[in-house]
Amino acid sequence: MNLFGAIEAGGTKFVCGVGTGPEDLETVQFPTTSPQATIQAAIDFFRARAGVSLRAVGIASFGPIDLHPESPTFGYITSTPKEGWRNFDIAGAVRKALEVPVGFDTDVNGAALGEARWGAAQSLSDFLYLTVGTGIGGGAMVHGRILHGLTHPEMGHIRVPHDLSRDPYPGGCPYHVDCLEGLASGPAMEARWGVPGRDLPMSHRAWTLEACYLALGLANWVCTLSPQRILLGGGVMQQTQLFPMIREDLARILNGYIQAPEITEQGESFVAPPQLGSRAGVLGALALARTAAGVTS
Ligand code: ADP
Ligand code: ZN
Repeated sequence: MNLFGAIEAGGTKFVCGVGTGPEDLETVQFPTTSPQATIQAAIDFFRARAGVSLRAVGIASFGPIDLHPESPTFGYITSTPKEGWRNFDIAGAVRKALEVPVGFDTDVNGAALGEARWGAAQSLSDFLYLTVGTGIGGGAMVHGRILHGLTHPEMGHIRVPHDLSRDPYPGGCPYHVDCLEGLASGPAMEARWGVPGRDLPMSHRAWTLEACYLALGLANWVCTLSPQRILLGGGVMQQTQLFPMIREDLARILNGYIQAPEITEQGESFVAPPQLGSRAGVLGALALARTAAGVTS
């Protein structure tokens, strides 16, 4: 009983892993089809690779999901538009089939836990993990625990100032139009400029605007959560020129009010890339499995 199972449940693909940590993690990946077929493929993988040695499984899932332990639909994927997955009891299906404890959380909360355990946030008690990709999502570690609160944070949907004379793009969030995600996600960039972000030259003013929106978001979280570090991942952050621009804008927006050398000196470690790269999701799920089994070290 010494192996852990990990499921990175994404809207287009599932990545499953078995192991104890980054050194011995064995992974497999398959497309997300129907819930029944996809979960069965995951269960078959765990049975074949771990068998009776499986101690717990962690699921880091696309959402929205129900994380309220008292709720009758705890462990479900809830209102997703994804065909067949709405109101699906993903955590329950895995628990019933494998009869082991199941840790369940959002994909970003999982990634934050993975970075805390093995990546760029080791030994920190308070930090944020943000992904800037198809959407903008964030996980917060507060006092050494992932912040859940009422449900789970939806950091991408905060409001930031939108100057229509500088940026006439109205915003693309179906719920709030010009929230941060509506203005600064990968699809928002593509809708504003007519080409995907990766096709825009590094000198394009799109990046100045993008850095400014992200820094406005970061300023809000710095003021509300006082993180020791903010990790920025996701497809859009592959544009590494954004990092120094965001650090500079953040220091300008905060205007010396928060007196911490990490911010005022614009050091590279305060706003930093994650370290687990493409394995962040599945390692985050593995960290959830370890927590579900009560393993703390
Ligand atoms: P997801 O959010 O679906 O998990 P990603 O984090 O890869 O996946 O985000 C996909 C979004 O990021 C797309 O909108 C895409 O245009 C954008 N993106 C991916 N790679 C890059 C890149 N190198 N530069 C700029 N934008 C990118
Ligand atoms: Zn929104």
